[in-house]
Amino acid sequence: MEILENVPLAGYTTFKIGGPARWFCEVKTPEETAEAFEFAHRQKTPVFVLGGGSNLLVSDRGFDGLVTKVCFKGKEILEENSEAVKIKVAAGENWDEIVEWTVKNGWWGLENLSHIPGSCGAIAVQNVGAYGQEASRVLVSTSVFDTTSKRFLELINSECQFGYRSSIFNKQARGRYVIFSVTLALSKKPTPILEYRDLVRAFAGKNPALAEIRQEIIKIRNLKYPFPVKAKNGNAGSFFKNINLDETGFNDLLARASASFGENAAQTLDKKTFRENNSHFKVPSAALIELCGLADLNVDGAKINHNQPLVIVNESGRASAKDVLSLAKEVIDSVLKTFGVKLQVEPILLGFSSEELKLVE
Ligand code: NAP
Repeated sequence: MEILENVPLAGYTTFKIGGPARWFCEVKTPEETAEAFEFAHRQKTPVFVLGGGSNLLVSDRGFDGLVTKVCFKGKEILEENSEAVKIKVAAGENWDEIVEWTVKNGWWGLENLSHIPGSCGAIAVQNVGAYGQEASRVLVSTSVFDTTSKRFLELINSECQFGYRSSIFNKQARGRYVIFSVTLALSKKPTPILEYRDLVRAFAGKNPALAEIRQEIIKIRNLKYPFPVKAKNGNAGSFFKNINLDETGFNDLLARASASFGENAAQTLDKKTFRENNSHFKVPSAALIELCGLADLNVDGAKINHNQPLVIVNESGRASAKDVLSLAKEVIDSVLKTFGVKLQVEPILLGFSSEELKLVE
């Protein structure tokens, strides 16, 4: 395994932004991963484990540590019967290629998670979800390297402590585990999840085939989330998280919407909000950004994506990380001033100073 110096990171992220890593290596086996961590220990330098780079913004200065790019490949069927199949997929495999493979085989479970950029390992880290499905519902276990005990472990679903877009890997034990593979349980019997508005619109009264659901999801996502394969239009998916409020907080938000934009705007916001038992309110942050008139805002090369304002796009292909953070700050400040709620940034921010992070935290 070769350890390189001063490797530009922009090309390893879907944002296509960011300076170099002081050290960089690609690991293809668990043993190489252990070797990389030993190197970092000797150098007394921090390690950042990189997957598909699809939920990441790297600072313009880069990262003063070792970036370990996970390149584990492979997929296999562990168990199969007439009703179900259990598969094991290496963390470095491209997620959407795996979804395509399962759909072609007629296995249900991943179709709603179509066209999400990134690697299979990242799916577990973030408990990625879309259109009523999330990784934790199909994930059986993950094989990991524990960088604290230096042991290889299998963490079952409950040990991953999955929550809404969260897990032990990005919360309680952030940076501790390197994921080698994920084991997923899929169904051979149809298990369509079609409750989300966009899918209701497409399939109401119909009984779509598995491949049709995947095609529809790809069509919808293409309209809202530019698939970040080219340097131009690079992005990291949603840059802002949705807002979760209790009843008091939500009523306050509606009152502010009504005061600033009128009763109709408050009613629309009310309709777009999802509630659980009238005690938990999930407010789409995109609607707040739109109401503030920020859906076309830009700072130099970085721009809010008009069709889905949760996304910041590297519109010119030459945006800097500073442009992105300045734009994010404008959005966060404006939404806070208008609605009294603070938007949270979703992607990992790597290599930024505490002063820079204060802009968006
Ligand atoms: P959308 O369909 O415009 O919906 C906006 C928000 O409303 C979403 O956050 C979604 O919650 C919620 N929602 C919609 N229908 C719902 C229902 N029937 N029950 C409960 N909640 C509902 O969303 P979008 O922005 O175009 O995104 C499409 C899907 O991709 C969403 O599920 C979104 O979460 C997902 N996505 C996930 C990631 C990620 O995992 N990092 C990144 C980008 C988008 P949920 O968030 O709970 O689905």
